[in-house]
Amino acid sequence: MYPDSDSCRIVPRDQHGISRANISENALKVLYRLKQEGYQSLLVGGGVRDLLLGREPKDFDVATDARPEDVRRVFRNCRLIGRRFRLAHVHFGPEIIEVATFRGGGGELEDDGERHLENGMIVRDNLYGTREEDALRRDFTVNALYYNIADFTVIDYAGGLEDLQAGRLRLIGDDPERRYREDPVRMLRAVRFAAKLGFNIDPDCERPLRAWSSLLGGVPAARLFEEVLKLLHSGAGLVGFEKLRHYDLFGQLFPATEECLAHEDHAFPITFVSRGLANTDRRIQEDKPVTPAFLFALLLWEPVRRRFFTLVDRGLDPHEAMVQAGGEVLAAQLARVSIPKRFSLPMREVWELQPRFEQLDGKQPHRLAAHPRFRAAYDFLVLRAECGEADPELADWWTRFQEASCLDREGMTGPARKKRRRRRPRSGPGGEGAETRGKPSTGGRDGG
Ligand code: ATP
Ligand code: MG
Repeated sequence: MYPDSDSCRIVPRDQHGISRANISENALKVLYRLKQEGYQSLLVGGGVRDLLLGREPKDFDVATDARPEDVRRVFRNCRLIGRRFRLAHVHFGPEIIEVATFRGGGGELEDDGERHLENGMIVRDNLYGTREEDALRRDFTVNALYYNIADFTVIDYAGGLEDLQAGRLRLIGDDPERRYREDPVRMLRAVRFAAKLGFNIDPDCERPLRAWSSLLGGVPAARLFEEVLKLLHSGAGLVGFEKLRHYDLFGQLFPATEECLAHEDHAFPITFVSRGLANTDRRIQEDKPVTPAFLFALLLWEPVRRRFFTLVDRGLDPHEAMVQAGGEVLAAQLARVSIPKRFSLPMREVWELQPRFEQLDGKQPHRLAAHPRFRAAYDFLVLRAECGEADPELADWWTRFQEASCLDREGMTGPARKKRRRRRPRSGPGGEGAETRGKPSTGGRDGG
């Protein structure tokens, strides 16, 4: 490693661990093609960071001096996207290589697109710049490293290599508060990378997190949905959740849930979310599918459950109560973090099926088992039972029911079975709680 100039450090190919064998073929195609066309062409961001850490990158981002229109001319399989940042997406089947033109503070303007600020927040940033300027407008030093396809060197303008070595997340520049104000999502990104990489947040960047958490209120709910997913579906969701709470950021995203967790005498609501997230992390590590519907069902369950019991106490039947409780909690939540309908509908079904697990007579269990959302709802019930919030015997019954032959199922649901009494919450509206149940369920399968 040697200083190349005053402003950057250049690490030659034999002194860093990045090998082209670990870069996706499609990313290499894009890099080489741009270079062939006479443009600068570099890998940047999480791809470089993760390769240097010996981790498998989630995706590959390319930085270039080619304008988005130039990129589109070079690649037929290319679409331009974004208003806040105009980007080129080069499509290769399911893989998208994101190509971004160098941005900066003092460069040429693209159409009418200068840097727009509202209350110090960047709402539009299509100001082109040099490679160095591009590095310095990025968020964390470890995210501002470039791998240059022209000579296979790694370029570091911001001290990212040193921070990478130290396992430290540091915002670029000497005014972290300004950087968070420019884009409050950087607070969530700090938490995400700290959780995912196991890095420490530099004290100067950590300090403002709590004080500035309310800035998240100014971020569009749709963008927060994307960020929450990236954070909690990263394979380190449980740590991410704990850190969000630690920095008072969770309450900005899920105020109703935070209200329940903060004023909870019993451990099960927090255990429920933590266990669910741990299951989700395990599934991601095992390459099993996960769905935002289950994740949000998990995160919003406690406020839904409480509202449900209030409504039941007012005389609503369980189904109506769950439909209404789900609707109310969702409506309030959408103001903070939007949840697209394709996820909120199945999420509500998972909730609405919960009271139906208590009906064990006649045709009901057979109908429920044939419901398209049955599997997710059953996983949800098991999780509830594991935390002592639902009856473990009930979860066991459903585990046995699924494993039973058709004939045995008929036997299990004979008309002689007595109707079960619904459990009451241990606390919350309505008061009198159910007594502690016996052994925990062993029929648990992964949720998520
Ligand atoms: P991941 O592994 O999750 O993809 P990443 O660092 O690549 O992590 P991306 O969201 O793909 O994250 O962004 C690519 C790069 O763009 C980042 O590494 C960073 O350099 C820059 N970037 C992304 N979001 C911001 C932001 N809010 N502010 C400044 N720079 C950002
Ligand atoms: Mg990336």
